Amino acid sequence: MQQLMQGKRGLIMGVANDHSIAWGIAKALAAQGAELAFTYQGDALGKRVKPLAQSLNAELVLPCDVEDIGSVDALFEAVREKWGGLDFLVHAIGFSDKNELKGRYADTTRENFSRTMVISCFSFTELCKRAALLMPQGGSIVTLTYGGSTRVMPNYNVMGVAKAALEASMRYLASDFGPQGVRVNAISAGPIRTLAGAGIADARQMFNYQQRHAPLRRTVTIDEVGGSALYLLSDLSSGVTGEIHFVDSGYNIISMPQPDALKT
Ligand code: NAD
Repeated sequence: MQQLMQGKRGLIMGVANDHSIAWGIAKALAAQGAELAFTYQGDALGKRVKPLAQSLNAELVLPCDVEDIGSVDALFEAVREKWGGLDFLVHAIGFSDKNELKGRYADTTRENFSRTMVISCFSFTELCKRAALLMPQGGSIVTLTYGGSTRVMPNYNVMGVAKAALEASMRYLASDFGPQGVRVNAISAGPIRTLAGAGIADARQMFNYQQRHAPLRRTVTIDEVGGSALYLLSDLSSGVTGEIHFVDSGYNIISMPQPDALKT
């Protein structure tokens, strides 16, 4: 059987280690024949990302910090030189000062609000603009969001506000790039134990709560997010753009705690 991603080349941004959601996505894409390039943020993470990338035969593994626009431009120049074009992009990047991922949203500082927005939201716009230039025949782009964008999750605070802006950006970008056949979608993942996830106060409590009350009575894995990303990045979803696809064991549809779970 022909592989879904045979002949497609894409850039994976946001692997920190083998627990990263971006890594789950990369594995699913590579298993279907995709050629991958990876980025890493700084030398310390580079030491972890390089061997992972090599295990999937990645041709390019490059540094990129989205706060440094020079490194973003250098990245896309390197991709253009090596491949000439791009078929897909994965944006799995988020950051906020963990001192503000606890307590009240009202206490967010101006400095951290701006930094969180630039890294977790505006980077997506800057990356899409550059990626779309390398996709003259069309392509597919996916970002990662969380349900704290539309409903209040304790301690998620400014990240929830950034995810709301990211989701709105995703829709505007889908509209901007739709005419050239570039699709832009988001996956809203349920809580997963990752480096970024660990920065949120009482993350374990949120994890356990969703495990007990989601319709599937469990949380999701990076491989399950990978499967959904494979669909969105492949031609299987050729008619889909501007969508938020939930991979959260159905937690987003629940309005009340599950009575059976309250008894345990
Ligand atoms: P992770 O820590 O493995 O990945 C976060 C990545 O963001 C890291 O690779 C880090 O290097 C990168 N990053 C942060 N600042 C950066 C910068 N300035 N420049 C370049 N890269 C930068 O954690 P993850 O949970 O896999 O996070 C990936 C995405 O998934 C994030 O957008 C996160 O908000 C989102 N998400 C996570 C969960 C969860 O529960 N873990 C749920 C829904 C959505």
